[in-house]
Amino acid sequence: MAKIIVLMGAPGAGKGTQARLLQERLHLPQISTGDIFRSLKHSQTPLAQEVRDIMTRGHLVPDELTIRLVKERTAQDDCKDGYILDGFPRTPAQARSLEQLAEEQQNTIVAVLIDVPLELLEKRMTGRRNCPVCNEIYNIYFKPPRNDNVCDLHPDAELVQRADDNSETVRARLATYEQQTRPLIEFYETAGLLRTVDGTRDPEVIYQDIERNVK
Ligand SMILES: [Zn+2]
Repeated sequence: MAKIIVLMGAPGAGKGTQARLLQERLHLPQISTGDIFRSLKHSQTPLAQEVRDIMTRGHLVPDELTIRLVKERTAQDDCKDGYILDGFPRTPAQARSLEQLAEEQQNTIVAVLIDVPLELLEKRMTGRRNCPVCNEIYNIYFKPPRNDNVCDLHPDAELVQRADDNSETVRARLATYEQQTRPLIEFYETAGLLRTVDGTRDPEVIYQDIERNVK
């Protein structure tokens, strides 16, 4: 049976890195609802038209249509050995629709949570600085430059912090994530489908752990 991998993790937990490694090494496509919605612009199917109309009116696309889009996309040949979902499901209701889809496709679901304590996530994001000349990324907690706030290679260049990496914004983003994702995590926990991996370790070690859980 092929696996549907639902990868979960807070902003800064390294979800993007792990999704990329899974794609490269297990040759599974990452299906992102964001990409699906964007690609609708060029699609002429009745379903695409219906969703486009809803989006043009500025309304939220109902779950029932989103799952149909996911179904349509994952019916393609590249998904036959399984796939990674990104941006879906977001709610227990969507997770239930995904269970039905998995059953129709004769796939099994595995939800993987990359778990990183909030305090560490905050430091990962608020500590980030980059060189305006070469774009090298530093972190004042984990990978500080040799001299305070200047690039190792460009001593005249003061490092800069992205506007949305300030602590207030970061805390708000993490709180939103926590609030929105908690019910989904609980859903998968209750269903016995949740695998939690310790996301504080080296990306390669985390990957090995994830691979063991999804194979
Ligand atoms: Zn530099």
